[in-house]
Formats: sequence, C-alpha cells, structure tokens
Amino acid sequence: KEELNIIQGALELRTKTVEDVLTPLSDCYMLSSDAVLDFCTMSDVMQSGFTRIPVYENERSNIVDILFVKDLAFVDPDDCTPLKTITQFYKHPMHCVFNDTKLDVMLEEFKRKSHLAVVQRVNSEGEGDPFYEVMGIVTLEDVIEEIIKSE
Ligand code: ATP
Ligand code: ATP
Repeated sequence: KEELNIIQGALELRTKTVEDVLTPLSDCYMLSSDAVLDFCTMSDVMQSGFTRIPVYENERSNIVDILFVKDLAFVDPDDCTPLKTITQFYKHPMHCVFNDTKLDVMLEEFKRKSHLAVVQRVNSEGEGDPFYEVMGIVTLEDVIEEIIKSE
C-alpha cells in the first residue's frame, strides 16, 4: 500500500544519511567563478533546468558560492557581466553538511536553511593530514524522494 511505503520511507529517515541520497559532484551542474554571463553561458544555465547552481573556484571540489537562477533576472547578456559581480552582490550563505548527517536531521535543517546543501566528508585516507572533501550536493527534493519513493 502507498501509505505503508510512505511510513516506511519516513521511518528510514532516522537511519539513512545524506551520503545515501546525494548527487555526486561529478553529476553536478556548476559554473566556474571566472565565468562570464554572456548569451552562451546564460542560455546554458537556463537549459540545465536547475534552480541553484554551485559556483567553484579553480577546481570543481572547491565550491565557493551558490548562484540562484532568479539572480539573473536583471542581467543583460549583452553586458557580459562577470559571474563574480552577481555572486558578490547576492552573497547567498553556503549551507554545508557532513556525509553522515541523518536524513531526519537534514530535513529539520532544510526547514530552517537553504534547500541545497554541499556535502563534505573528512578524508583521512592516505599519508597526509585529514582534510575536508566535497562529495556532492543534497537538496530537500532528495530527502522528500526518500519518503515518497514507491518501491
Ligand atoms: P526546484 O525544484 O526547487 O526548482 P531544482 O529543480 O533545481 O530546484 P531540486 O528539485 O532541488 O532542483 O533537485 C532535483 C534533483 O536535482 C535532486 O536530485 C538534486 O540533488 C539535483 N540537483 C539540484 N541542483 C543541481 C545541480 N546544480 N546540478 C546537478 N544536480 C542538481
Ligand atoms: P524556491 O524554493 O525554489 O526558492 P519559492 O521560494 O519561490 O521557490 P516555494 O519554496 O515553492 O517557492 O514555496 C514557498 C511558499 O511560497 C509556499 O507556501 C508556496 O505556496 C508559496 N508561493 C510560491 N509561489 C508563490 C506565489 N507566486 N505567490 C504566492 N505564494 C507563493
């Protein structure tokens, strides 16, 4: 029954983590911080269909900002505005979480904060000191999906 699936999904929020539902970094649609908002870039953003777009500096694992598509409302492609101008104007706070965050905790956080979070883990493999590593992104939609998925 549909209802049982939803209850089941809701109960699993306590055991599943964001790592189980995230969108891996390699699949993320992102922009480089040195991008220019010309016609080409802006139509690419529109065609991606995403509402929130992580912005990285130098390498994709270094996310420094989030661009909201609605930030582009007053941007004229003919002006070739640097992306930095827009991100520095809006300065949306970055919402970061650890990979082992349980989905029920994540859901509570999404109620209070931005609906997209960057997922990090502590990488202590290898010789050197442990470091934070970005694994991907998680959105409210990914958590809801766990509740209402019909299997
Ligand atoms: P909204 O529905 O609020 O307009 P959206 O359609 O851009 O936003 P979500 O509905 O939050 O995105 O998420 C849908 C799926 O897409 C989720 O699995 C999420 O992880 C993924 N996703 C969201 N943003 C991106 C992005 N920039 N690149 C790749 N995947 C993304
Ligand atoms: P996003 O989460 O992608 O930023 P949003 O903030 O525009 O989208 P939602 O998060 O989908 O909107 O909805 C937030 C609340 O605002 C909901 O209660 C929704 O019903 C309401 N809402 C959304 N669009 C409108 C609108 N055009 N007029 C009035 N209320 C709206």
